Amino acid sequence: MGRQPIPHNVGRQLWASCGGYCQNPQCNRFLFASVDEDLISLANVAHIIGYGIKSPRSNHELADEIDKNGLDNLIMLCLDCHKIIDELAHKFSVEEIKTWKTTHEKEIKRLFNVPEITNERELLVEVSNLLDENGMIFREYGPYSEKALEGDSGDALIIWRRRCLDTILPNNRRVVDLIEKNKKHFPFPWDVYKEMMVYRLHVDAFEDNCLLDQRVNDYKLFPVEFDHFIKTKLGVKLHPRELRPKEELEFRRGQISIYINRFLCNHDCIADMKEINRATMHVTLKDGRELRVFVTNTYVFTEYTFDKILAIDPYVEVILCSNPSGEYTDTAKQLCIENKIGLFKLREFMGAVRKTGEDFLNYLLVEERNERISHSKNALEHALKDAFLPKGLEAYLFGSFLRRKIYRDIDVLIVYKNDQAQLAVERLAHILKRVAEQYSSLIDITICSSQEFPNLPLKNNNLTKIYSS
Ligand SMILES: [Zn+2]
Ligand SMILES: [Zn+2]
Repeated sequence: MGRQPIPHNVGRQLWASCGGYCQNPQCNRFLFASVDEDLISLANVAHIIGYGIKSPRSNHELADEIDKNGLDNLIMLCLDCHKIIDELAHKFSVEEIKTWKTTHEKEIKRLFNVPEITNERELLVEVSNLLDENGMIFREYGPYSEKALEGDSGDALIIWRRRCLDTILPNNRRVVDLIEKNKKHFPFPWDVYKEMMVYRLHVDAFEDNCLLDQRVNDYKLFPVEFDHFIKTKLGVKLHPRELRPKEELEFRRGQISIYINRFLCNHDCIADMKEINRATMHVTLKDGRELRVFVTNTYVFTEYTFDKILAIDPYVEVILCSNPSGEYTDTAKQLCIENKIGLFKLREFMGAVRKTGEDFLNYLLVEERNERISHSKNALEHALKDAFLPKGLEAYLFGSFLRRKIYRDIDVLIVYKNDQAQLAVERLAHILKRVAEQYSSLIDITICSSQEFPNLPLKNNNLTKIYSS
């Protein structure tokens, strides 16, 4: 029986109630750590009564009565604390862990206590101040800040990610809570509440991106509309509104010419390049193909960024992510492929232009392919450490996992060389499935004997050995 994932909304509620800190009172560690340029989430959703039959504390009398993946049975801990309460389960009772959680939640509530405000103006000033703080951080460190665009985007990126978690997210939450809690003081329909509902969608999406993807995304970066609404109600004079697409898809000055003159000028597949405007160039390949290329400097390219770009240039054929520390999401890439648009980082683009069709759109860098192979080898080796499989078993990777950036599933071939090995095939397959589960990938396992092996039509499909006993 497979273990069900914890529902999305439960994870989010848990996150909101822990305030970003480990809920073990002896620990209370901030649940993010920065390692070089990456901000790593240390957050671990732990079961109070373990999920499986032999899991920690699963012999508790309530074990069969409760929803194991329900909010009440989960606690947010750091990696260390999760390990400790699970491995020393006998020392940490269900009741004790529940006390940790309720005490911590009370403290967080006190910390983020939302006041009753009956005067609308007073409430709006409070909201406006929170938005101003977020806006200031966004302008100073966000993806389109001078600092980020000046080139040394690494430091700005780290600060931006950190401030997203310790200031922007809590401020966003507080804005929502302030309006939600005080709506009873104002006549229905209250326009502020209506606007807040739209703003809340932004807050939720932003939070999901920050927390669940374990990275900070520029998804709907700063809610300009909501900010303007609040300021207008307060009678604050505003600058004429900038165009949103421009604001969100900012690019470095002279970026296109840098691409043409520095990065792509010596490429042996490119015949000609022309700058169309600050963001777009026209590339002619030696095989006659013409490509309209849009260059964006966004940190994390999402479906949202995709929509923004298509709104500006519906004829775009390639989107280049130029930010060296930037990346794109799998869903955005998938969406681009479906729309026959190439979405690449510079190095990928340079390789992809050698290919056509699906091979072009879904191009996989050779080193990324090699990374996938070595990663699979290591994960499997680790999982098989104590498995004691008999001699005569082999496992191979093949198929789209080694050919495509976006793949449907991981194809694995198991070959057995003798009767004893054949008996252990199921066990190996089971372990492979578990490893794939850890990386939330689908796996498709083919099994054959060493006599059948030479006749399988897989040799030309990137067949790569990752295990042999
Ligand atoms: Zn656990
Ligand atoms: Zn902890």
